[in-house]
Amino acid sequence: MASQGVFLVNSPNVKYSKEYIEADYDYQITKVASIGDVLMATPVTTKLHIRTKCQVPKLGLMLVGWGGNNGSTLTAALLANKLQLGWETKEGMQKANWYGSITQASTVRLGTGVNGQDVYVPMSQFLPMVDPDDIVVDGWDISSMNLADAVKRAQVLDVNLQHQLYPFMKNMKPRPSIYIPDFIAANQASRADNVISGTKWEQMEQIRKDIRHFKDSHNLDQVIVLWTANTERFCDVLSGLNNTAENLLSSIKASAKEVSPSTLFAVACILEGATYINGSPQNTFVPGCIELAQKHNVFIAGDDFKSGQTKLKSVLVDFLVSAGIKPVSIVSYNHLGNNDGQNLSAPEQFRSKEISKSNVIDDMVHSNKILYGSDEKPDHCVVIKYVPYVGDSKRAMDEYTSEILLGGHNTIVIHNTCEDSLLASPIILDLVILAELCSRIQFRRAEDPDSEYCSFDPVLSILSYLCKAPLVPQGTPVVNALAKQRSCIENILRACVGLPPENSMLLEHKLH
Ligand code: NAD
Repeated sequence: MASQGVFLVNSPNVKYSKEYIEADYDYQITKVASIGDVLMATPVTTKLHIRTKCQVPKLGLMLVGWGGNNGSTLTAALLANKLQLGWETKEGMQKANWYGSITQASTVRLGTGVNGQDVYVPMSQFLPMVDPDDIVVDGWDISSMNLADAVKRAQVLDVNLQHQLYPFMKNMKPRPSIYIPDFIAANQASRADNVISGTKWEQMEQIRKDIRHFKDSHNLDQVIVLWTANTERFCDVLSGLNNTAENLLSSIKASAKEVSPSTLFAVACILEGATYINGSPQNTFVPGCIELAQKHNVFIAGDDFKSGQTKLKSVLVDFLVSAGIKPVSIVSYNHLGNNDGQNLSAPEQFRSKEISKSNVIDDMVHSNKILYGSDEKPDHCVVIKYVPYVGDSKRAMDEYTSEILLGGHNTIVIHNTCEDSLLASPIILDLVILAELCSRIQFRRAEDPDSEYCSFDPVLSILSYLCKAPLVPQGTPVVNALAKQRSCIENILRACVGLPPENSMLLEHKLH
């Protein structure tokens, strides 16, 4: 029997082999139907057979916007951890770590120990996952600057770390990228010295070639591509343009104006069978692009990393609404001084971010009809300002005003200062590691053992925890509440090894 992690599951429903961890699993939900004025709730059990391939692939990661603050910081963090670097700061020695990554720096409760204590294991040990040290990185940027100088330009990392990394990063040069000035702010034009020419179709074909070249030259089993380039403006979604896969491909062939660089990247990836993740807010995934991903069975995920202010919002509003307290006004100010901030200072790019940040409370508000009428929701305002001096050290100020008992008010004010790219980089790592893991998990209905295994839907909504505006398969609920998003990940990991969902009841400690 092979051991695939730090623990083994002792159950007749779980089988370990060299190739797979296999689990027979009872998936239990509650179906609700309206019968007249009464809601009828029926527990329903689906018997699933879940298998997870144990062999992790040799994984390549290609970043669009590689030379930006996130791209360069993530690359530096991968190297610093791999080389186990330490560096002197004014506070003393600092060692490389992966703080902020749920896969690398958080634990999952496995169960109750012999003395009644909780037993936790690192999330990275729950199932076989790619080790960050083994990820090979490459990417594109419209700026030709090498990664060592890009780290310097970003002004995120301690200078002693920058110096140690310089020799390892100076030969990393972003591949030329697709630059269509109309989609990002005009203030970005001076960076664009590394661009692909040709028609939209030719540009898309070049991206496909780059993916194949990267894969072949490093002997990779799998490539994941992640957009961490500038926020684009929203593109129009129009019938005949990008509403179907066929129309989208024809529009690319016709170099239609409204096809954005990020959609060209997504289409290239789908056609190459490479998972594509969107870390920015724009509507890359137009209906035709989603249809293409479904057709080719390639994972897509997004949108927009959930790193700071929004992450806290998706905790706080969940807490307030589930406590029966009614948030009525939420006002969020941000100011930041990095290149992302400069790009977002243009109205159309700001609009993309505003939309992405605005819907984050919807599921929580809709969950409570006692507090909110059907058309009612809190006033919610998002402001972003570019203030160069603060650089990557983003300020987020939030005021939450809520109605409490008998007409009282409760106002919570939060001031959050944080290096944006140091929050985003571990999130990028998690997106990549979890997306890869998902490609090794398969399901089959147990009552039909001859049926084919299926995978997760190509729209990978399990990654919602890491996204501000989660993309979900059409007609399925969007979950923004952070605790629910996290328990989704934990409980799916548990299901893969045949363990029941964590229910937090702890009845073993509560009964007399
Ligand atoms: P950045 O401006 O430092 O980096 C973006 C990089 O993309 C730049 O190097 C730019 O030259 C490059 N670029 C622009 N258009 C390109 C194209 N078509 N192809 C290839 N490269 C292109 O920004 P950042 O701080 O690294 O953030 C990156 C993205 O992530 C932004 O869209 C931002 O809104 C989003 N995001 C960041 C966070 C965070 O916490 N840092 C959170 C959520 C979302």
